[in-house]
Amino acid sequence: MTTAVPPMIRIAGVDKFFGHLHVLKDVHLEVPKGQVVVVLGPSGSGKSTLCRTINRLEPVDRGQIEVDGRPLPAEGRALAKLRAEVGMVFQSFNLFAHKSIVDNVMLAPVKVRRLPAAEARKTAMELLERVGIANQAEKFPAQLSGGQQQRAAIARALAMRPKVMLFDEPTSALDPEMVQEVLDVMTTLAKEGMTMLVVTHEMGFARKAADRVVFMADGEIVEDAKPEEFFSSPKSNRAKDFLGKIL
Ligand code: ADP
Ligand code: MG
Repeated sequence: MTTAVPPMIRIAGVDKFFGHLHVLKDVHLEVPKGQVVVVLGPSGSGKSTLCRTINRLEPVDRGQIEVDGRPLPAEGRALAKLRAEVGMVFQSFNLFAHKSIVDNVMLAPVKVRRLPAAEARKTAMELLERVGIANQAEKFPAQLSGGQQQRAAIARALAMRPKVMLFDEPTSALDPEMVQEVLDVMTTLAKEGMTMLVVTHEMGFARKAADRVVFMADGEIVEDAKPEEFFSSPKSNRAKDFLGKIL
């Protein structure tokens, strides 16, 4: 007898409106544990909104979303717990400017998980080591480069021991020479088995690190394929058009 393992993320029949604007249209997406899914698509196609529905930063109007087999809680302590399990990294790093890097990383574990400060600091230092900026721990965000700040933001998300990581264009705000150091950290995470949903325009990352590419246009998932398949033979005109513009 086999026990069915639920996918880490399950999105079923989701619709989302902003007023009259229909931004997610009957979206179905399952991400098995340990898979890395890259979401591609033109600006305005609903990629960020999709990410934000997964930790309920945006409630949906129809359909179901489950993380690790459980429906998203609507509010309260259960929602706070879910947000801890679903790490999110945005284009803008959103670090607290008046706190040191290590304080940024240990803040949520102390406040939300109620970890003793010494323990949280130890873990934070290990994570900063992992993302290669342990030597920057006592500095303030503004003293770091963009790439270092984004790596700190990744460490901060990891400090909550998430089951899944969402990345929404994590390198889009970076100077070109800093993009790779952030992608390298993400690639390592992927290799370690983290379940990841990554919105990015970095096609090299999509080809190398993704198990699947999901292409969105106008609020719909238009294609869902292996990277080699998607890049070599996109099926829809919208994907062909998109690839023609960015490759
Ligand atoms: P993408 O990340 O693919 O660029 P978004 O998910 O940000 O797309 O946006 C999808 C659509 O929803 C766009 O038309 C955008 O203008 C609109 N939108 C996004 N957030 C809001 C909001 N808070 N209120 C109203 N419209 C929004
Ligand atoms: Mg976006």
